[in-house]
Amino acid sequence: MFKKDFPIFKNKDIVYLDSASSTQKPAVMIEALRDFYENTYSNVHRGTCSLAACATERYEQARKTVADLINMRAANIVFTKGATESLNLIAAGLAQHLTPGDEILISVAEHHANFVPWQQIALKTGAVFNVFDVREDGSYDTDDFARKLNAKTKIVALSHMSNVLGVVNPLTHLIDMAHAVHAVVVVDCAQSIAHMPVDARALNADFLVFSGHKLYGPTGIGILAGTDEMLDALPPYQFGGDMVRSVRIKETDFAAPPVKFEAGTPPFAEAIALSESITYVRQIGFDKIMAREHALMNQLLNRTIELPNVHILAPNPNKESLVAMTFGDIHPTDIAALIARQGICVRVGHHCAMPIHERFKTPVSLRVSLGIYNNADDIERFCNALEKALRFFKG
Ligand code: PLP
Repeated sequence: MFKKDFPIFKNKDIVYLDSASSTQKPAVMIEALRDFYENTYSNVHRGTCSLAACATERYEQARKTVADLINMRAANIVFTKGATESLNLIAAGLAQHLTPGDEILISVAEHHANFVPWQQIALKTGAVFNVFDVREDGSYDTDDFARKLNAKTKIVALSHMSNVLGVVNPLTHLIDMAHAVHAVVVVDCAQSIAHMPVDARALNADFLVFSGHKLYGPTGIGILAGTDEMLDALPPYQFGGDMVRSVRIKETDFAAPPVKFEAGTPPFAEAIALSESITYVRQIGFDKIMAREHALMNQLLNRTIELPNVHILAPNPNKESLVAMTFGDIHPTDIAALIARQGICVRVGHHCAMPIHERFKTPVSLRVSLGIYNNADDIERFCNALEKALRFFKG
């Protein structure tokens, strides 16, 4: 139904089931990017000509579009180059407030982008790095969370949706518990943002991050949303042009957030293009997106569990838009290689989440993930190809 909006699917042979890694791009976004570069391009914030004014206005309007998507104010939205940079920015800033013996608490299911920065600042500052478990069905083990949260916990980093397990974690209660011990809460929405409404205000986290390229936007653009209080308290991540109010030989007065965190020429063309993607997604509506993706997930899970040797990682009927699987003694890479020959794009490996693979006692898995362009035929083609590949290896 929506395939026609995505130029890549003019090639009818492609079955794209790797949207958790990065989504395909709608024509409206590609066209907006081309139009901006062709007709109204100029750097933002510093110029006086009409091109510069127009670029600045569209960049700031894009900030507002992002803010509206997650129910925040534009002043709370920092443009970065991706979720990874957003998380590193937050970690680098918060590290300055950590002292030996402070604690950081995260889950074993985090993507490396929401794992390694916290591990590294713990090593650097002498903070204790605590990791809580997930249950067999992939949901957060809230008892383990409660056991490991304490008055020394200064940072809690969670994800709205796992990029391996596809489980959406209800976070409000955990965030309230973390706030009760005065911990700063960071929520990674890189996976959920394209599949369901995310209300940052209702979640009440201190920071929330995601990437544009997983939301049908261009690469090189990410979001860091923070509360007024947190953005004011966080020191700048990089220094340079634009992020200052005044510079003298002996001192610099930094601009107010969000500009304080946007040193140098920001990714404004990408921000403008991302805002087109957001408008496109919102015109379709998350109700429709969720209904379609749920139906496809049911089809996928019902078909694959019937197949011999298919083991779903953390079986759970409430998986949203992605599922990871293994195949007994057949290596997922071998299966992926065979089905790739039929034009089917899935992902194989640890998906930048080695600790959760270790937790489920497998080094790698094959991940199938959905986008708004997928349809029942894509799922059928994948399942048929998988069935054939399994027969090839097992006879
Ligand atoms: N967090 C999660 C849950 C992810 O799935 C990803 C990417 O796969 C990231 C963070 C990092 O996103 P990026 O590589 O766009 O910075």
